[in-house]
Amino acid sequence: MSKIQMKTPLVEMDGDEMTRILWAGIKEQLLEPFVDLKTEYYDLGLKHRDETNDQVTIDSAKATLKYGVAVKCATITPNAQRVEEYNLKEMWKSPNGTIRAILDGTVFRAPIQVNGVHPTVRTWKKPITIARHAYGDVYKNTEMRVPGAGKAELVFTGEDGKEIRQTVFEFKGPGVLQGLHNLDASITSFAHSCFQYALSVKQDLWFSTKDTISKTYDHRFKDIFAELYENQYKEAFKKAGITYFYTLIDDAVARVVRSEGGFIWACKNYDGDVMSDMIATAFGSLAMMTSVLVSPNGQFEYEAAHGTVTRHYYRYLKGEETSTNPVATIFAWSGALRKRGEMDNLPDLQAFADKLEKATLDTINSGIMTKDLALLYEGEAKAVNSKEFLAAIRERLEA
Ligand code: NAD
Repeated sequence: MSKIQMKTPLVEMDGDEMTRILWAGIKEQLLEPFVDLKTEYYDLGLKHRDETNDQVTIDSAKATLKYGVAVKCATITPNAQRVEEYNLKEMWKSPNGTIRAILDGTVFRAPIQVNGVHPTVRTWKKPITIARHAYGDVYKNTEMRVPGAGKAELVFTGEDGKEIRQTVFEFKGPGVLQGLHNLDASITSFAHSCFQYALSVKQDLWFSTKDTISKTYDHRFKDIFAELYENQYKEAFKKAGITYFYTLIDDAVARVVRSEGGFIWACKNYDGDVMSDMIATAFGSLAMMTSVLVSPNGQFEYEAAHGTVTRHYYRYLKGEETSTNPVATIFAWSGALRKRGEMDNLPDLQAFADKLEKATLDTINSGIMTKDLALLYEGEAKAVNSKEFLAAIRERLEA
């Protein structure tokens, strides 16, 4: 059998712990036998990030700007305990944060649904995709402990030296203080990514903020979305038979819970962080959630929404076989390969991505799955370890 050829390399960002083990297994079992895999490899494993003073993360993001499509393995975001465990020079920043800052995009997270695993929310029939703004707010905050009584002010000094000054609070005693920002340019590209993604998947777009309380900050988000929609997307939405809908975040939460699903919910950075974990859990499992960062310039970075599954890795190190779910990581690869195929006009590569996803879902629907899913599955389920699960998918792919 001749292998499927690629034109442009994918940017491959390797990662840490159990997902790094799965990564190698997926390549060996499900990709390399079928595709003449072309990748530009970046090792974002914590050890190598430390050796390169995190330059490798920056280089991998820049390569994504150059080539257009990346696939990323989950990585450790170091904390104090990791600094000790890996004897790190520094507590390096979150790789995802660094990559997002360079690509300035929007993260779309969607659950992968299988028969037999029913969402906790009874009314949900179709996936709900969360679009998370990936710039600013509390993720780029400046904060301080207020030591005691005093006045906190918000000061903006223009390039012309003019000051705008507002009192935040007159402290009578100690407390905490935080400064946030966002950019019209970033909110605009967030809105563009959302409108375009909605059109490409033909799903309604919802957007929510807390504009009744945050009458300037959140309201700016609402206005930018509304203006872009009116001026640039209204017609296209009408043609596609989809709608754009803005509502207050409290109302959105209530409506989402009562909905059937099947739409995109655009959220500010923090809302998206929290809501996507809630949605993932309610749809079944974090291990069944895909994630793609779409930049305003049309670059795509695919990954699983979950972390490195540390608990399983420590068992793996003791020589145990683990039943870690590789589905979201497989879908990161299939998403990236499909997009590469689309961009390079390679129908065979696109068809392979479809087949890989179908083989994965068919395996689960036939009752073979990892333990996390078997626990949720309504029906006859055979829980297997990761290796056996990948082998079962491979068998279907070959058939
Ligand atoms: P995690 O996602 O690794 O695990 C959270 C929980 O979900 C655990 O109970 C785990 O057993 C379960 N789980 C997650 N994915 C699973 C899978 N594929 N199969 C079976 N069970 C699965 O998150 P965590 O434990 O909070 O973090 C572990 C490490 O991952 C941390 O170092 C963190 O910095 C990193 N992390 C990375 C990313 C990323 O790279 N995108 C995201 C989140 C966390």
